[in-house]
Parts: sequence; C-alpha cells; structure tokens
Amino acid sequence: MRFGPHITRRDFLNGALLGVGGALLGCRPPPRRHITPALGPDWYGYGGIGDYRWSHGNTPDAVETAHRLRDGGFPADFARVERIEDYDLVIVGAGVAGLGAALEYSKKRKAGQTCLMLDNHPIFGGEAKENEFDVSGVRLIGPQGSNGFFVPAAVSDPEGASGDPRYYAELGVPREFRLRDWGGPAAEKPLRFSPDNYEYLVRGLEGQTSVGHFFRTSTPGEGTWAIDVWERRLANAPLSATVRATLLQWHNSGATRHFASDEQAVRALDVMSYEEFLTKELHLGPEAARYADLFLASACGLGSDAISAYVAYQLPMPGLTEPLPRDLRRVSFPGGNSGFVRYFLKRLIPDAIAGTDSFEDIITGRINLAALDRAGQPLRMRLRSTVVSVEHEGEPASSGTVKVVYARDGRLHGIRARAVIMATGGWMNLHVVRDMPAAYRAAYGQFVHAPYLVANVALTNWRFLHRLGITAAIWDRGEGGFGYTCNIRNPMQVGRYQPPLDPDQPTILSFYTPFHHPGLPLREQTTRGRTELLSTSYPEYEHRIYTQMLKLFAASGFNPERDVAGLVLNRWGHAYSVPFPGFFGGASGRAPRDIIRKPYGRIAFAHSELSGWQHWGPAADEGRRAFTQLADAL
Ligand SMILES: Cc1cc2nc3c(=O)[nH]c(=O)nc-3n(C[C@H](O)[C@H](O)[C@H](O)COP(=O)(O)OP(=O)(O)OC[C@H]3O[C@@H](n4cnc5c(N)ncnc54)[C@H](O)[C@@H]3O)c2cc1C
Repeated sequence: MRFGPHITRRDFLNGALLGVGGALLGCRPPPRRHITPALGPDWYGYGGIGDYRWSHGNTPDAVETAHRLRDGGFPADFARVERIEDYDLVIVGAGVAGLGAALEYSKKRKAGQTCLMLDNHPIFGGEAKENEFDVSGVRLIGPQGSNGFFVPAAVSDPEGASGDPRYYAELGVPREFRLRDWGGPAAEKPLRFSPDNYEYLVRGLEGQTSVGHFFRTSTPGEGTWAIDVWERRLANAPLSATVRATLLQWHNSGATRHFASDEQAVRALDVMSYEEFLTKELHLGPEAARYADLFLASACGLGSDAISAYVAYQLPMPGLTEPLPRDLRRVSFPGGNSGFVRYFLKRLIPDAIAGTDSFEDIITGRINLAALDRAGQPLRMRLRSTVVSVEHEGEPASSGTVKVVYARDGRLHGIRARAVIMATGGWMNLHVVRDMPAAYRAAYGQFVHAPYLVANVALTNWRFLHRLGITAAIWDRGEGGFGYTCNIRNPMQVGRYQPPLDPDQPTILSFYTPFHHPGLPLREQTTRGRTELLSTSYPEYEHRIYTQMLKLFAASGFNPERDVAGLVLNRWGHAYSVPFPGFFGGASGRAPRDIIRKPYGRIAFAHSELSGWQHWGPAADEGRRAFTQLADAL
C-alpha cells in the first residue's frame, strides 16, 4: 500500500486510526481527541499522491496570507517589493473564470501583448481540482470540489454561443464516455451508481442510483436503513403518515408557476426563499424544505431557507419545474471539472500537460509546472502567488497603469499592468483592490459566502456498501455527527486509467459536506460553518468521519483498519456565493452583481459568484466578459 512520499500505511494508521480500534469491537465512537488550534501542523493532513498532493482545498499558506491581508498586514505600494515586472494584462485567479479570460486573451491578443496569471495555490483550477490515491497499485482520481455536468447541446458556431455549449465545442471535449459495466461474478446485486457526486440527490434522477437512507431510532447510536425510498414511494421509510405525505407531495410537484421570460421569473421568484415558496405557496410542512436542503446546500452552500426560489427554479427543484427526464445523465471526469481546467490549460500552454491533445492525455497526463511561467511566453502562469494589492497609478478614470503587489515565498513582488482582471471572489477583492469605488464596496458587501468540505476517503474495498445494496447514503445526522451524504461514483474509464468497479476492489467514497444551520441568519450560518471548518484539525475530522462511518456501516462490516486506505480533506473557506433572495435583483430588478460586472478604470471583475449559482461554463463566460471589457485598454 502506498500513500505517496511521506506516508506509509503503518504511519497513516498510527496517526489516523488511533482510538478507532476499540470502537470496532463494540461499534462505539472512539474517544474524542484534543483539538489542535486552527492551522496547526496537523491542520492540513494527508494530500494523496501525484500533482495535486500539495494543493487540496485551501492551503494553510493561502488561508494565513488571506487572513493577514484582511487584517491589513500588506502594503499597497511598491516601496517594499523585490522587483517590478511589466505586463499588458494580469489575471488574478486561475480557476475556470480566470482561464475563460485567458482563453479570450489568447484569441484576441495583439502582437507583442503579454499576460500573467497569478494564483495563490500550488496548482491551477481553483475549486476544480482533483485528489489522487494509489491503493495497492490501483490509481484512483476524484474531484476536490466541482465534479459534474450535463453534456450540453452541440453548437455549430461556438463563437455565437455562451456557457457550457460554447466551451464544450471550442475546447473539443468528447461527448461519449465509457463507464464500468456492472455485471459478472462480482455483481451479485443489481446496483446502480451515480456518475458524479450530485446525481443521487436530484429529484427525478435519484432512481439511477442505489441510495440508502439511514434513519436513527430512539435508541442512541442505532438506526435502520431504507433503500430506494423514492421508488417505493417512501413505503419502506420509518416516517409518520403526515411526513410521508408531505415529502411525496413535494417530490411529485411539477411546475406550479409558469413565466413568459426569465426576467419575469426573477421578479416573481427572487423575492422569497425556496422554503418560503414551499410553505406559503405549496403549503408544505418543513420536512420538504429540510429534504431539499440536501441538494441545495450541496450545490449552493446553504439550504432552502437561504436560497432564492429563482435558483430552485433554475436548478430545477420540485414545485417550480417538472422532474428531469430519467434518462438525462450527468458526467464526471475522473477529477471532476478539473477535466475542463485541463482542457483550457492544454489549449493555452500546451506543454503544461504531458502528451498529446487526446482525451486520455489531457485528463490523466502529468502536469509540467515548469512550462507555466517561461520567459517569452505570451501567457504565463505563476502559482503560489497571493495578490495583496491592486490599485491604479493615479485616478482610475485617467490612469494608464495598475500597480499589482503579490506575495510569494515570503517576499513581495510588483507588477505594472495596463489592465487587471480579478477572477477572484468578492471576499478577497474587498481587501485587495485598494481603490475600489464605494458603490462596488457596497455591492460586494451584500454577497454572502458559504464554506464547504469535500472529504475523499480512499477505500481498499466497499463490501460494506454492497452488503447494504447501496452506492450512496443519506443519513439523519445526530448530535456530534458528521456530514449528510456520501457516495461512490461509477468511475469513468479513460485509456489506461481503468479504475475498478468491484466491491472487493479500491474506490473513493466522497463526502460532500455543507455547513447549513436552517433558520439562523445567513451570515451567522456561514460564520459558524467557517469557524468549524477552519478550527477543526485533520485528526479531529478523521475521528468524526470514521465515527460516522462506523455508525452507518459497522453493522454491514465496515472496519476502518482494514477498509480505509487514506483520507484527503478539501476545505473551501468561501466555496460558494450564496444566491439569497434578491441576489438577482428581486422585484426591483437591481442586482448588486450588475454593479460589479462593470469595469472601473482598468480593472474588471470576473468570478463564477457573479453568475448566481456557480457553474463551469458561466464561470468562463464571466472571464470572457471581463477581458472583452478591458481589451481596448491593453
Ligand atoms: C464543493 C463544490 C462543488 C461544485 N460542484 C460543481 C459542479 O459539479 N459543476 C460545476 O459546474 N460547478 C461546480 N462548482 C462550482 C465551481 O466552483 C465553479 O464551476 C468554478 O469552478 C469556479 O471557478 P472560478 O474561477 O469562478 O472560482 P475559483 O475556482 O474560486 O477560482 C478562483 C481562484 O483564485 C484564487 N485566488 C483568490 N484570491 C487570490 C489572490 N488574492 N491572489 C491569487 N489568487 C487568488 C483562488 O485560490 C482560486 O484558485 C462546485 C463548487 C464547489 C465548492
């Protein structure tokens, strides 16, 4: 068993599972560990193997630098920088939005123009990165965050399109994929699998997955499983008749409102939360909203009480749209939407990913960091570089240049640019962009950002799920419990990358975990969540995750000593901008994001948060829009 350069299986078990052994016998939770102060040496934890091992979720360095920035710890001027470089364009942030800006730059640049992308993490991709494991010689890749998509409609003129269809066509992403067949001697049970980490939560598509619901009983620590509850119309779920009726009514609700235009939908729906819609218009009990939280909080950061009914209409949720056709399937590349990031990068800096332009090479090829930042390239990318100050030289309206200061390896560096695209979130921009006009500050002040944790557990086998007849689990979380849902995907097969789908072979079990506290004010929910996310050490999370797994799966044979090969935590402090009621303009039609989407002077803003609910194609559109706004300033 290999765990990468620093961890042997024995080391890992000694560190990770201390205390769990006793619990195996009686299935009691292991004793609580001492919680190490935030960002202590045991905060970050094991990172897997491969190119992404030093960059899983927010790195301690990125978090600490960001906090220092928030507390005013960095200068804005060039007085303390080591050197000053000149570029025509600087793009801050190498997530999908930054890459969308870079793609447009690379197509529209005039001869001699130069661009530098800066990102504060050791690997590009932002929230679209991947984890990699080697379990007994089996290579396993899973997403750190952004993980799935619907294959968009084909377009003959990508330039005339936007969002997913545009970039899908422009980047030449394939439309047919190979998953593992479930059959043969290993497949004693007719199990179904989500291709990604969301589909099993989506009304209408959940039937594609064998989903188990775990209901706690009145005896502490005990519960019962109900499998495929929606197919059985909840008949097998231990619920009261009233709750069952409420959930079925919610689940069966088609579109109860119809709109002639999107603008009409915004004005009618962006004035209330989805929970308000369910209770006031559909007259449903709170159980419907709490069930809807599972998907909404997973996709938007907070639950039904916080999310605009307009987003529920877009996503789509019961009561506002018809169920999705059952045969509509999502797709997830091995590393989730890091696959799109790799496509962008291969187009922009071909040497950055080893191999050819084939799907296999782009998706599974090794990253060549040395190719990113070579002198003379029209587009360069510099990682581990936190931008701490962006400001026009002189008045924004008349200035010819923007001063950029960034921190790298404990030193400050300067750049003078003709224009800057901030492909970063508002929580960061408020501190970095020093001459931001008051109206932008006020607009950004209305944004709310929610934290999120993706925990990927590499398993040596998943017999304990197979025995239950499930590939995804949803549970009734108890006091001190961890998470709400987890699943294994049917892993995409890509060339020589052939991960197994066999209960006696390794796989990745992913816990997509939001921090929502229904009923509390939005900011209180996100602050509580962020405090927990950032102040909990890796061993403490390990303890909580394995304890939860024991609660759920000990009876079906889960044994952490034997079954767990590794755990990677991907902590996202500001994972999602929460699309609350009014985010899109509400009844007035005036949305804070409309202000931010306009450039001022030589600075423009691009981040998926401006799209409302975050998604890869619209993220790239924001970058393209920002470049187009500044193109004449270069
Ligand atoms: C858990 C999770 C699951 C998701 N699932 C999906 C999904 O299934 N499908 C989908 O389409 N979308 C999904 N998303 C949304 C996804 O985040 C977006 O689609 C998109 O990847 C975001 O791109 P971005 O460029 O806007 O932002 P980011 O990915 O946040 O990129 C911004 C980059 O800028 C860097 N940065 C910030 N400040 C600075 C600074 N001062 N200096 C230098 N660099 C800085 C950040 O570290 C980051 O690398 C998911 C998001 C999360 C959190």
